[in-house]
Amino acid sequence: MSVVEQVLGRLDDTRAWQEPLYRDLHAHPELSLHEERTRALVAERLCALGCDVVEIGGGVVGVLANGPGPVVLHRADMDGLPVTEETGLPYASTDTAVDESGATVGLMHACGHDFHVASLLGAVELLAFEPGVWSGTFIALFQPAEENAAGAQAMLDAGLTSLIPRPDVAFGQHVLGHEAGVVGTQSGPVLSAGDSVRITVFGKGSHGSMPHLGVDPVVLAAAIVLRLQTVVAREVDPTDFAVLTVGSSTAGTKSNVIPDRATLLVNLRAYDVDVRARVIAAVERIVHGECAAAGSPQPPTFEYYDQFPLTDNEADVTATVTEAFRRHFGPDRLVPLGRIPASEDFSRVPDAFGTPYTYWGVGGFPAGQGVPNHSPFFAPLIQPTLDTGTEAIVVAALAYLGKDNQ
Ligand code: ZN
Ligand code: ZN
Repeated sequence: MSVVEQVLGRLDDTRAWQEPLYRDLHAHPELSLHEERTRALVAERLCALGCDVVEIGGGVVGVLANGPGPVVLHRADMDGLPVTEETGLPYASTDTAVDESGATVGLMHACGHDFHVASLLGAVELLAFEPGVWSGTFIALFQPAEENAAGAQAMLDAGLTSLIPRPDVAFGQHVLGHEAGVVGTQSGPVLSAGDSVRITVFGKGSHGSMPHLGVDPVVLAAAIVLRLQTVVAREVDPTDFAVLTVGSSTAGTKSNVIPDRATLLVNLRAYDVDVRARVIAAVERIVHGECAAAGSPQPPTFEYYDQFPLTDNEADVTATVTEAFRRHFGPDRLVPLGRIPASEDFSRVPDAFGTPYTYWGVGGFPAGQGVPNHSPFFAPLIQPTLDTGTEAIVVAALAYLGKDNQ
């Protein structure tokens, strides 16, 4: 019997608590940086499994030390979204919360982070129960606030790197719209870098009938919105990837008042740090130029937020994990992940340690019926999704920690 088969031999027992835990997590999502209930459930189970438990920066880390050998880190994210669930599942969330603006919002695990938590806890138990066949250290890291890109940084800012061993390799996974039971890997950039920027441009208020006495920020903002469309079309190499979207444009409240400012919310994505820098520079240059052209009385302001780093899978680690997946799942259950224009803050932790990493996808839906993440109808199949996510973590970890690989 292989080391992987031996460790996964207890999966029936693990599944018996994992599925109810998953349904409970799904029914009780929490907003980013408010994951108190989830964190307490995770910490309690990590303690029970004999991990050294560190609660830090809104997250919780379980360190399972098992003799000399490599240090492997796996990251799960814990937050839900302000989405009102419409799946109709018996364990659908009916919870609500008050968001930062004071509005009452529905809560939903519409991105599958409940799967990530349940899978990683299951993998910790499987590894903890078979210490004889592997050697080294397994770190299970549960981060808050992936959805707003704040959680990994919060843990780092609180001193994570001095509280846990430096990992030799790091992993993350995400439930996606692929067929359930399938895993997807890929070397190189797989998730884009993402930036949001709030741009405020200034005009001079006036009566709607007397535009010559003011500077109209509505016309200025409109010119900027159109001119920004040339950034990707005219300034980015056609063989490179970038997306620029103006998601919001607001100014004024009445038809007969020229307001004194306008605000644009712009979202940027790229798979390359140089492309990203070029797009940001072009946006700022165009906004400054249009403000000058309009006679704006005050320089524009740029407030960057929700900034996600690039997820760029290291080649050797990805090859090792892909081969381990091929052996365990078989070639039919292994697909190329492809590039996904969404973004993640997973890479911040390995980058802070200088650790190579790979991030893979786990399918969660009947073939051809995938629902996009963040949809109110995002209802992955519990099985085989949960087993696949749990097995993937164990298989990838044992590719480094298994005594047959050392
Ligand atoms: Zn998400
Ligand atoms: Zn997600």
